[in-house]
Amino acid sequence: MVAYANILRLWMALLIQQSHLAMTKQTPHIKTRFAPSPTGFLHIGGLRTALFSYLFAKKHQGSFLLRIEDTDRERLKDGADQDILAALKWCGLNWDGEVHWQSQRRDHYQKYVKQLLDEGHAYPCFCSRERLLSLRSTGDHNQGYDRACRNLPQDKVASYIKEGKPYVVRLKMPLSGQVTVRDEVLGEIVYSYREFTDTIMMKSDGYPTYHLAHVVDDELLGITHVLRGQEWLSSYPIHHFLWQKTGFTPPQYIHLPLILSESGGKLSKRKNQGVSVEDYKDLGYLPEALINFLALLGWSYDDKRTFFSLEELTECFSIQGIAKSNATFSLTKLNYLNQHYIGKLSQDSFQSYAHPILQQAFPTRVTGQLGSSRVEQASLLYQSRLQYFKELETYLSFFGSTDLAYAPSLFDGLPLSQQEVHNSLLILETLLAQTAPWEEEVLTHEVKQATKAKGVKMFELLMPLRLAVTGSQKSPSILALVIYLGKESTLARVKALMNHLASSLSSDEAE
Ligand code: GLU
Repeated sequence: MVAYANILRLWMALLIQQSHLAMTKQTPHIKTRFAPSPTGFLHIGGLRTALFSYLFAKKHQGSFLLRIEDTDRERLKDGADQDILAALKWCGLNWDGEVHWQSQRRDHYQKYVKQLLDEGHAYPCFCSRERLLSLRSTGDHNQGYDRACRNLPQDKVASYIKEGKPYVVRLKMPLSGQVTVRDEVLGEIVYSYREFTDTIMMKSDGYPTYHLAHVVDDELLGITHVLRGQEWLSSYPIHHFLWQKTGFTPPQYIHLPLILSESGGKLSKRKNQGVSVEDYKDLGYLPEALINFLALLGWSYDDKRTFFSLEELTECFSIQGIAKSNATFSLTKLNYLNQHYIGKLSQDSFQSYAHPILQQAFPTRVTGQLGSSRVEQASLLYQSRLQYFKELETYLSFFGSTDLAYAPSLFDGLPLSQQEVHNSLLILETLLAQTAPWEEEVLTHEVKQATKAKGVKMFELLMPLRLAVTGSQKSPSILALVIYLGKESTLARVKALMNHLASSLSSDEAE
């Protein structure tokens, strides 16, 4: 019995020691990277990749690197790299260390191209662009190439090179067999090598392709985890093959679900919906809303929680939460989140977002110090209802135009007849003219007095005033708004709606 108890005790002690060892075992320093190509503004899907790479690294006290993949010289756009850097900073996704530009690392790629050639894993291909185009148009060959140069005799290769014939370097992919690649979210995926042609590693301009450059850089920069969109899954076997032939240590791959539009296709630019971070910034979306929104596009924490700050995401993020299937971009959800974050802004921050948009819409009114103009002050009244700042342009359009076009739908569903609206406007015309000084308190007092004197309800005066001034049935406190608009403009609008109504009422009578 005693012997049994001793064995049990020993066994327990061993177990405890082992689990302690497992817990204290140092996890390697995690390094991720975001590797955009500077071909335009940062795509919203790119920002999601950057975010997930950032979160994964930071969650594990690792590093998040930024690498600009600028080796496709034909697709480069001037200044796009700086725009990308600015967009990441705007969202608070700060990278560690310096930015790595691939165009400045060309020697590294040359070295590995040479190694692949020397070891017989790659070969120069002298086929002209015209030949490749015609091959592609026949569609007979896998990915447009028939491997014509794969077995060129050595002396021919040497003489072509000597005479300066331009060439690319292609990877000698296996001609048959299967390969199993591993993704940390999707598990193991089997591909048949027959689906792949001999992909280009180095172009004739001496620049590497994405395939070679990213594999070399991920190795040299010590990247431990590659997070990238699922659009790269189909070329994963090429990268896997390259890792093998170069003898590098492969990182772990995590492919992120595609982001589709609500109609199921690719995201495309249409009214009030953008595709780049810049588009959303210009429309007046907040970085905290975009980050919160993108985090939930292809990742989930639990069914209950909706709002996450970047810090909270860093704590909660895990690979297990990444979805396998496509994510749908819901503008309604983004607007909902943005409205939430706009509602929480301090007055100063609100003004700093509103300022550039209002300045563009009302250049003659928005001058001087930030927040000092009347239209900017009026914009504050909209804080709780704004979905994005650009809406201010429409909401406050009555500040800019002297003659409002009243839409025929203006009176739809209104519990007041047009005649009643007209009567109220007559009362308001006198009342407004008499109000002095032009202050909210004074005006409110005048309106209250008028309700008693004329036997009408508050609503019967306020709604017609709102219709006249804003051309809409909805607005924040109309008495606060008209103070910012000014007495003259308010009176002018009251008269304008009266005229509008007078003509429609008289035509009704004539009928
Ligand atoms: N330059 C590639 C892109 O912009 C990077 C893909 C990757 O993350 O490896 O999509």
